[in-house]
Amino acid sequence: MEKRGMLLILSGFSGAGKGTVVKGLMKQGQFALSISATTRSPREGEVDGRDYFFISHQEFETMIREAALYEYATYCGNHYGTPREYVDKQMAQGRDVILEIEMQGALQVKKMFPEAVLIFIVPPTVTVLKERLMHRGTEEMDVIMRRLKRSSEEARSMDQYDYIVVNDQLEPCIEAIVHIVEAERQRGFRS
Ligand code: 5GP
Repeated sequence: MEKRGMLLILSGFSGAGKGTVVKGLMKQGQFALSISATTRSPREGEVDGRDYFFISHQEFETMIREAALYEYATYCGNHYGTPREYVDKQMAQGRDVILEIEMQGALQVKKMFPEAVLIFIVPPTVTVLKERLMHRGTEEMDVIMRRLKRSSEEARSMDQYDYIVVNDQLEPCIEAIVHIVEAERQRGFRS
């Protein structure tokens, strides 16, 4: 039987540096990245079809109705979901797929695919988290506050993840994730 790819799920507080970590992982050339659908408006520099599929509420509802999403969740007032087709195709081809999604969605996927590897990325300190969110300059203060509140809620359930990785410095963080993937691959039922 053909080897199916691994599902690697990365979550983390808003401002933990997940996006940069994912970019670094993608440079390794061994992963396929799932592009989510969202009802959030694009931030400056974000491109439809590359960063997200930016869709309307109505389109999102249609995707739910047609079971076109593996999982979906609401995060700070916007909907986010993982389109099923791309993930299925890549995994069937034996490619490892990264989902960069929040906690509710991650736990939904883990129920469907118990062999999925869940990694939660945390910043070294709360102060660093706040600084990263403020300096990103992409969100208004009330959005920043909502995201920080959501982070403290997520912190309570972090132990449901398989691994927690600290993103203090980018390269060691990426290296740690690559090592986790290699170790997970060694397990018989995932190889
Ligand atoms: P942002 O608005 O900062 O791009 O994303 C907000 C949150 O939504 C992040 O925690 C991100 O990981 C999460 N997210 C992005 N895409 C998806 C998705 O398809 N499903 C779920 N459940 N969360 C997502």
